[in-house]
Amino acid sequence: MTTTIDLVSYEDALASYDPVMGLEVHVELGTKTKMFCGCSTELGAEPNSQTCPTCLGMPGALPVVNATGVESAIKIGLALHCEIAEWCRFARKNYFYPDMPKNFQTSQYDEPIAFNGYLDVQLEDGEVFRVEIERAHMEEDTGKSLHVGGATGRIHGASHSLLDYNRAGIPLIEIVTKPIEGAGERAPEVAKAYVAELRELIKALGVSEARMEQGQMRCDVNLSLRPHGREKFGTRSETKNVNSLRSVERAARFEIQRHAAVLNSGGTIIQETRHFHEDTGSTTSGRVKEEAEDYRYFPEPDLVPVAPSREWVEELRAGLPEQPLARRNRLREEWDVNAHDMQSMLNAWAFDTLGGCIAGRGARHPPPAWGVCGCG
Ligand SMILES: [Zn+2]
Repeated sequence: MTTTIDLVSYEDALASYDPVMGLEVHVELGTKTKMFCGCSTELGAEPNSQTCPTCLGMPGALPVVNATGVESAIKIGLALHCEIAEWCRFARKNYFYPDMPKNFQTSQYDEPIAFNGYLDVQLEDGEVFRVEIERAHMEEDTGKSLHVGGATGRIHGASHSLLDYNRAGIPLIEIVTKPIEGAGERAPEVAKAYVAELRELIKALGVSEARMEQGQMRCDVNLSLRPHGREKFGTRSETKNVNSLRSVERAARFEIQRHAAVLNSGGTIIQETRHFHEDTGSTTSGRVKEEAEDYRYFPEPDLVPVAPSREWVEELRAGLPEQPLARRNRLREEWDVNAHDMQSMLNAWAFDTLGGCIAGRGARHPPPAWGVCGCG
């Protein structure tokens, strides 16, 4: 379905509506083995060489939880100021998808391992915006389809498809925000800043390299508009698997303009998933979005509940690194550089997440003066 609409200008959209966003970020953990079996997670192996009866869903195969996966999930939850569940279970999310040979995804439903947190993010002008976190839960990745013979790489027009299950079962953490309200015209900037800050945090924790261009971290952007002064949320669209910071911002911006155009013309927004296109900066319709009850979630009978002891949780809390935002602010003061120059340095990737120069020879030091560093 490709209907083209005349977008409303961004300014006109914001003059009539308040955007409400929900961001769902999937992070692939950097564990050595998969979440429920001993298969390697190493990238670049021959297709289907890293599979076993468990991650292929063969009859009789039984999953076992990866302890490092649970530990990483707790670290992420704690770093996001979440409560950590004393007891929680995995659930089966049932659907048919060729990427998922089990015909269900092992996930968590109403009992996430971490919930009720927040992440403070800094916008370009230095303002800090608090994003509330609904939950962070554990699940597994799907395999990969390769559609061959078509022009676009999508299934439409392809002559056949190949499946690679090496990725099926790699641990994922899904981090879901509460509705982000009150950002107004800065909503797309908040979305970008949130994903950027979350990526820094994940890297600082050492639980994933969080490379968006490799799909190790990807963001679903939920967006709806409501007329100024109205409390009830509008219908949302969900733009799936956006895989760069810039695209997160562009996707949110495009959807604000598209929603406003539909609403202004008396139309209704359809609750659906959408695809973002890098080349045009636009989104197109995917599929009508299922409701949670359509997945017939039920507790996973093959896995024991996860009940992290309070001692373990406190031990992990004590070992958390300094929050990236706090560290940046501390270094900025120590080095006496302004927020803009600090941002330029980070953008240029001259400094790693520990705040040290990585331009040359592994030396790590603060800059003698902005732009002047003998390492390079
Ligand atoms: Zn396996």
